[in-house]
Amino acid sequence: MPTQKKIKQKKTKSSQDIASVSGMRDIHPKDGEWWRAIIDSGRAIAEIYDFAYIETPIIESTDLFLRSAGVEKDIAKKRLFEIETKEGRFALRSDLSAPVLRSYVEHRLGYFSSPLRVYHYGPVFRNGPIKDGFEREVKQWGFDIVGDNDPVYDVQVMLVAMGMLKQLKFTDLKVKINTVGCKVCRTNYRDKLRAYLKKQKLCEDCKETIEGNPMHCFLCENSSCKAIHKEAPIILDFLCQGCNNHFKSVLEFVEENGIAYEPDPYFVREKEYYNRTIFEVISGDNPLSLAGGGRYDYLADMLFGKTIPGVGVALSLQRIMDRMKAKGLHPQKKEKPKVFFIAVGEQAKKMSVRLINELRGVGIPVAEELGKKTLRLQLKAAEKEAGIALIVGQKEAFEGTVMIRNIKTGAQETLVTEKLAEQVRKWLK
Ligand SMILES: [Zn+2]
Ligand SMILES: [Zn+2]
Repeated sequence: MPTQKKIKQKKTKSSQDIASVSGMRDIHPKDGEWWRAIIDSGRAIAEIYDFAYIETPIIESTDLFLRSAGVEKDIAKKRLFEIETKEGRFALRSDLSAPVLRSYVEHRLGYFSSPLRVYHYGPVFRNGPIKDGFEREVKQWGFDIVGDNDPVYDVQVMLVAMGMLKQLKFTDLKVKINTVGCKVCRTNYRDKLRAYLKKQKLCEDCKETIEGNPMHCFLCENSSCKAIHKEAPIILDFLCQGCNNHFKSVLEFVEENGIAYEPDPYFVREKEYYNRTIFEVISGDNPLSLAGGGRYDYLADMLFGKTIPGVGVALSLQRIMDRMKAKGLHPQKKEKPKVFFIAVGEQAKKMSVRLINELRGVGIPVAEELGKKTLRLQLKAAEKEAGIALIVGQKEAFEGTVMIRNIKTGAQETLVTEKLAEQVRKWLK
């Protein structure tokens, strides 16, 4: 039998051992108001902009994410959370648009709506070295429009993402925008860029990157690499007629809609499947984007050998919440429960549970802290929460009555328990 000391040690150890996985975060009750406001504004804006809800599983086939990585397949494989099962290898989704497209093709969703406009939310995962601020799980909200390559839809996904942020009271939004061309013009550009970069003194990471997609060098934060980027050739000089016209139209729609924007020829996104428009929505001068997206007309081809154009945007929900708090953007306070139920003694408690359930059953929000034993403690809790207290003591439990009290004014009355909800409603008016 373990000694007292051993047990104690074991206890301490296990309580340290089990903690959240690094790079993953909880959403706590104190975050509730913000979180609810963010989800509510996403749903409300989706309805206004005519997006339908879609939900895909968190686990998908590994190939879905590896094929969509194109020339960056090796990097994508390192970043993927893979799961080994008897039926084969699966992966935690690393992206929301690829599963939507998988569902679109598998269930012929284009048949029901063309283009298909959907919104969705949930976590995406990526594996990687744990450094400061690296998020292994990112809770995202996405909007996608699948089945049409018209530039008008590029701007619609920008507008819906900005609409969601505006509902949350962000006022200083700006869109960073660029184009990454098509298979034809960007291949030409990448060759030229690679040739230029090869002649420069780049960091080791960049040297590796240029063999795949040299545009991804622009993601390097190394100051000496950054100086090199500024002199690099830009894609705008290499665009084919089609890509040039598409980008021009997008910018026209952006201006037409009064969106504050900043074209940046060195702006790239990590995902390899983007073509033509890519963008990020930023707030103020903070470089961390709140939303990012782009066109992915090749994704269906990479996945299924089909031609299905699409465009989408994903918003990082945690980042939005953090920024709201930092900027002091308080969500509208939810109505606090106006009724607080107090019961003292076992008999009273039994009766209370039934009455509380009846009140909640007809839609009256009721708060309680029945676990607290004394009237004094429960009253104290009620004072913080509610306008009206319902009190059942021994006397009331015996008589089958409830004392109702206006906490502010102290006015009170004894009510019979029949038609209690009706009487409480009168007091709440
Ligand atoms: Zn092109
Ligand atoms: Zn570099």
